[in-house]
Amino acid sequence: MQKITEGDLVEKFPLIFQDRYASVRDSCMAFGIECGPGWYPILDVLFEKITQYCEGVLFPSPKAVQIKEKFGNLRVYMDVTTPYIDGLIWMAESITDSTCEVCGGPARLMGFEAGCLEVRCPDHSRIKAGAAGSRNAVGSVTKTIKDRPPYERRVPAYTKDGESITLLDVLNVALISYCESRKGADVKVKEVRIEDGSMLFDAEGVDEETQGIMDMAAAFWRRTSA
Ligand SMILES: [Zn+2]
Repeated sequence: MQKITEGDLVEKFPLIFQDRYASVRDSCMAFGIECGPGWYPILDVLFEKITQYCEGVLFPSPKAVQIKEKFGNLRVYMDVTTPYIDGLIWMAESITDSTCEVCGGPARLMGFEAGCLEVRCPDHSRIKAGAAGSRNAVGSVTKTIKDRPPYERRVPAYTKDGESITLLDVLNVALISYCESRKGADVKVKEVRIEDGSMLFDAEGVDEETQGIMDMAAAFWRRTSA
């Protein structure tokens, strides 16, 4: 995948980054993007989707208020959102559950010191060599894919053609946590198809926010599989 810098993102999304050079007293964006470059491609896809959506529905572009790593994950705060934009952000943050913050490679959420969490690959982990080998030494892992019982699946593990795509597991966890946190939400993806390089979903119970979650998944898959 193409290497993306913070400068690239600021230049490409001037409205979203309009406070990048504001005073530190006025905006946390004065500190820049406060996460590692491994997550920049996720931010790039997220801001592309937000920009496209705002142009499409004539919604004024929101601006970023803060972008940072917190409790191991990406956090993106915008000044104004809609449920659809919230969905896009939800999925972007969920993708960072399994993406190394430094290099963008496969990783998982782990505790590395008392109370500190990180999502990093073995090469970039701050967990001390001895501690990494001991299951008891690491903190609680909150949202790993394997810890979920299979009956909870809201997204099939395979596409219609039988292809296994890791991102479907990430989407599954994102929709499970969404439905757990939103009363009455009950989205279920019945089928995933790949057509002409696009990921398409046949789903029921979809609201605006879960549409954003699924669209971000499809857009990120398209980027990483290109
Ligand atoms: Zn890494």
